[in-house]
Amino acid sequence: MRSFDYIRPATVAEAAGLLADNAGDPLVVAGGTAAVVLMHMGVLRPSLVIDVAGIDSMKRAREGSLGALTTIRALERSPHGLLAEAAEQVANVRVRNVATVGGAICYGEPQTDTPAALIALGATVEIASRSGTRSMALENFFLSPYETALEQGELLTAVALADPVFGSGGCHAKFTIGSPENKPVANASIQVSTDDGGRCTQARIVAGAVGPVPLLAAGAAERLIGEAPSDTLIGEVAADVAEQIDPVDDVRGPAWYKRRITRVLVERALRCALQRANDNRTPD
Ligand SMILES: Cc1cc2nc3c(=O)[nH]c(=O)nc-3n(C[C@H](O)[C@H](O)[C@H](O)COP(=O)(O)OP(=O)(O)OC[C@H]3O[C@@H](n4cnc5c(N)ncnc54)[C@H](O)[C@@H]3O)c2cc1C
Repeated sequence: MRSFDYIRPATVAEAAGLLADNAGDPLVVAGGTAAVVLMHMGVLRPSLVIDVAGIDSMKRAREGSLGALTTIRALERSPHGLLAEAAEQVANVRVRNVATVGGAICYGEPQTDTPAALIALGATVEIASRSGTRSMALENFFLSPYETALEQGELLTAVALADPVFGSGGCHAKFTIGSPENKPVANASIQVSTDDGGRCTQARIVAGAVGPVPLLAAGAAERLIGEAPSDTLIGEVAADVAEQIDPVDDVRGPAWYKRRITRVLVERALRCALQRANDNRTPD
């Protein structure tokens, strides 16, 4: 591994200043589960590592937002059932104890679970640099594999999420091969809300790992609004999503197979999310 300088800033302002003053190749490291492995492999060869893990403000949850340093393990206790379900399916407890939500997002890897769940929940990300802050909807953050909207000198500081809504429910369905600890071949993250008649009032459907970026299938979700979805409609919506994804042939399987798996996962997650939304309306 190439030698490098190492700095552990204590504040966002300090980290943003370091990023601005070192325009070459500084590397931000949070949990390090991806970044350090890539450094060992020689894929990343930074001359400066900025370890943000000591920035307390990025660990804190504020009303309606999670600090970027929140671990995947901590997400398992999220009041958003969908997010907790996605988090508990990530790798193994050793990885989940250190990997952070900010790292999962900024890595931009298609084969992930929590970004899809966060998009389904309508998350926005908060970004800081020396020149100020900005925020954007998470679905617009991913540009292509390992490429995000984060610009030179920027740091992801928090993820904003609305509180869980009465009568809403979500489900994260994941399919992988080999060990269950492996990264997803495909996943479906779905959040819906229903009214007293079981009719859908809101729906967000995300297909993950089956294209360059997570797919928010807004048109397919729109078909559910105002409906108490029948088996036929659920099947049609799942087929619609599977049609829109952009999978590739790779070691995880051929594209046609991922399309079939996605159809099954969307159907399964949609049924489960609708059931949970309806159950959440019913007093125990
Ligand atoms: C064996 C294994 C299996 C895994 N399986 C899954 C899985 O099934 N599903 C899943 O969702 N994930 C899985 N993961 C986790 C995932 O692949 C990443 O390793 C993890 O999410 C990265 O988080 P981190 O905090 O360690 O990021 P780091 O490794 O520290 O950083 C990753 C990237 O993000 C950048 N970065 C990190 N934080 C910030 C920030 N706040 N602002 C700006 N840039 C930042 C870094 O510069 C780097 O480019 C797995 C990981 C391993 C090792």
